[in-house]
Amino acid sequence: MLQYPNLEQALKYHFGYDNFRPGQRQIIEDALQNRDLLVVMPTGGGKSLCFQLPALIKKGLTVVVSPLIALMQDQVEALRNNNISATFLNSSLNPYQVRSREEAILNGKVRLLYVAPERLMSERFLPFLDLVHHQVGISTFAIDEAHCVSEWGHDFRPEYRQLRSLRSRYPNVPTIALTATATERVRSDIIQQIGLKQPSIHIASFNRQNLYYEVRPKTKYAYAELLELIRETEGAVIVYCLTRKKVDELTFKLQNDKVSVLPYHAGLTDEERSNNQTRFIRDDARVMVATIAFGMGINKPDVRLVIHFDIPRNLESYYQESGRAGRDGESSRCTIFFSFGDIKTIEWSINQKTDAQEQLIAKQQLRQMIDYAEGTDCRRTIQLGYFGERFIGNCHNCDNCRYPKPVEDWTIEAMKFLSCVARCKERFGMLHIIDVLRGAKNQKITQYEHDKLSTYGIGKDKSVDEWRMLGRSLLHQGLLEQTSDGYSVLKLNAHSWEVMRRQRKVEIAISKTAKVTLIEDNPKVAESEELLYKLRSLRKQLADEQSVPPYVIFHDSTLKLMAQVQPKTLVEFGKLSGVGSHKLAQYGEKFLAEIRAYRDAKSSVNADVDMTSSLSLISGTELQTLQLHQQGLSVAEIAKHRKISPSTVVGHLAKLIEKNQPVDLNQIVPLERHQKIWQVLEVLGDIPLTPLKEQLGTAYSFDEIRLVKEKWRRERRK
Ligand code: ADP
Ligand code: ZN
Repeated sequence: MLQYPNLEQALKYHFGYDNFRPGQRQIIEDALQNRDLLVVMPTGGGKSLCFQLPALIKKGLTVVVSPLIALMQDQVEALRNNNISATFLNSSLNPYQVRSREEAILNGKVRLLYVAPERLMSERFLPFLDLVHHQVGISTFAIDEAHCVSEWGHDFRPEYRQLRSLRSRYPNVPTIALTATATERVRSDIIQQIGLKQPSIHIASFNRQNLYYEVRPKTKYAYAELLELIRETEGAVIVYCLTRKKVDELTFKLQNDKVSVLPYHAGLTDEERSNNQTRFIRDDARVMVATIAFGMGINKPDVRLVIHFDIPRNLESYYQESGRAGRDGESSRCTIFFSFGDIKTIEWSINQKTDAQEQLIAKQQLRQMIDYAEGTDCRRTIQLGYFGERFIGNCHNCDNCRYPKPVEDWTIEAMKFLSCVARCKERFGMLHIIDVLRGAKNQKITQYEHDKLSTYGIGKDKSVDEWRMLGRSLLHQGLLEQTSDGYSVLKLNAHSWEVMRRQRKVEIAISKTAKVTLIEDNPKVAESEELLYKLRSLRKQLADEQSVPPYVIFHDSTLKLMAQVQPKTLVEFGKLSGVGSHKLAQYGEKFLAEIRAYRDAKSSVNADVDMTSSLSLISGTELQTLQLHQQGLSVAEIAKHRKISPSTVVGHLAKLIEKNQPVDLNQIVPLERHQKIWQVLEVLGDIPLTPLKEQLGTAYSFDEIRLVKEKWRRERRK
């Protein structure tokens, strides 16, 4: 066994992290004691580390059972980038590759082997495994996505059932089963089916603190809101739609609006789907519009926004789908656009189901989803309650907690509404009732002579949406009923009559769209944004050279730390969370050079500002740049002449523009480019440079955009 002074040091050395996530340490200690384990953690909880770190400390080979090829490759790539010898065996390899990998394993050169269950349990493979056990020893079996063993789970795989026989074949090898499953039934199934022996059970909280949950009404401006959300998000976005058709429509619209977006649904060929997926994972496309076919087995840790443009089918799948945001622990957002029209569509499709039991369950699940969307309580309380976890009170990170909806007394309106239902003899749906209340003139109304009713036109003061909000709330609160025969006819119940007799008050929460921005107004953050952009480009370049996703090089959180801390030496760099020994050696110098260049450019500008102390005064060095500029020299020429870097010159020019000095922008940025950037600024407003650049495309440089933006800001201040 390799010796480490302590587990934290091992963690830092191999993975670069400073601290364990909640639960990890205890699990790893149990694993090192060779105990069987059941590990239940939500997506992003950090399950993999729980068997990866012990695999490096214990003797022998750790065999990881994983259901999907993509998942295996992903984990192996990430491990290799930490210089950990991991490999996989699956159908994507040719016989030669298989043989050489098997040899490496037998020679004890591999710490972690990823393999699919059907291969592991095959006639050909088991004798090989015996040999491995004999020669190098198998230290642990780690069964990832262990819920696949259960018929009660959403992803049953019969091959997983055979894993049980491993227990008798290798009785002394401990087994770790890992899952993000939330239900009790599946958990006990896992223990039984895999045959865990007196396992130590670790169930982490399912609360994902870094996720901001919100529900917005899907109004006719929903698309514009969606676009704005996407534009103000820095990083990857998944948008879920209910049908292929909607996916295609939305993709098309977004493409027209210059968003870098790809579609994903079952109607595409296997190749298209896998290409789109890879491009998304590698940050070649920022937005994925998809049906729920997308996401299983996607390990991308830096998804910053998951939008459900149509309401999800049930809370469990919503939790899993929205949970694909922010696996790396950075703040991310989960948004549902909610409309009653969509509910109708889903209800219709549920009514097509022939199995009555299935229909009932689907309806109940939809009801819970509607309760969630309409609810005025903390979204976390509702979600976690669904999984049997108690979460009390204000999370400060959902729309209902941050912007509690005002509750208003709508008893009078409710009386009007309910008596209109009564006058229409409980034979009509909500839309007709609202038409009558608002005094609409249409054929149905004349046909039934509803314009002669006393309630005709008594509700003109409220909009259709407001009446609908009341109607839904009455249903929701059980003060009104609705038939489930597909016609949704409104029916009164005993509570309705209490309301009409003024024996009961009706209060409803008034929803207004709340707008929040996750990016804080922190000047330090704003300043490091430019550096962050540069670090991102460097990361992308390095990732492309190795054909791996950028997050394999460094996570977003590590890049952000770099931009904020701006380390000067390798030692300082090595202290950042996410920088392990291997990545330090591999990438340290490259990133340090980028940071150094940036700081040099900045410090000359800052020193000048300090010297002059007043913003309106220009410094000596800026003045020199200005004079050369006025003589008609380009940025490159000024830089060369003054022996400073071009980005320093651009920094001077930006400051000069800010101070309203006579910088001729057209001399630096050709007019048509200048105008194009200006246009985009007019539309998108004062947003960070990265999304601006994304909108404009690679033809525009960061410097150009920066200068034009400075000018545009000045104009706006006037
Ligand atoms: P899960 O399988 O539970 O969804 P992962 O094992 O993929 O989660 O981990 C999620 C992310 O968190 C990964 O990108 C991983 O590198 C990161 N991570 C895991 N443990 C830590 C830790 N102790 N500190 C910081 N990041 C961590
Ligand atoms: Zn909350």
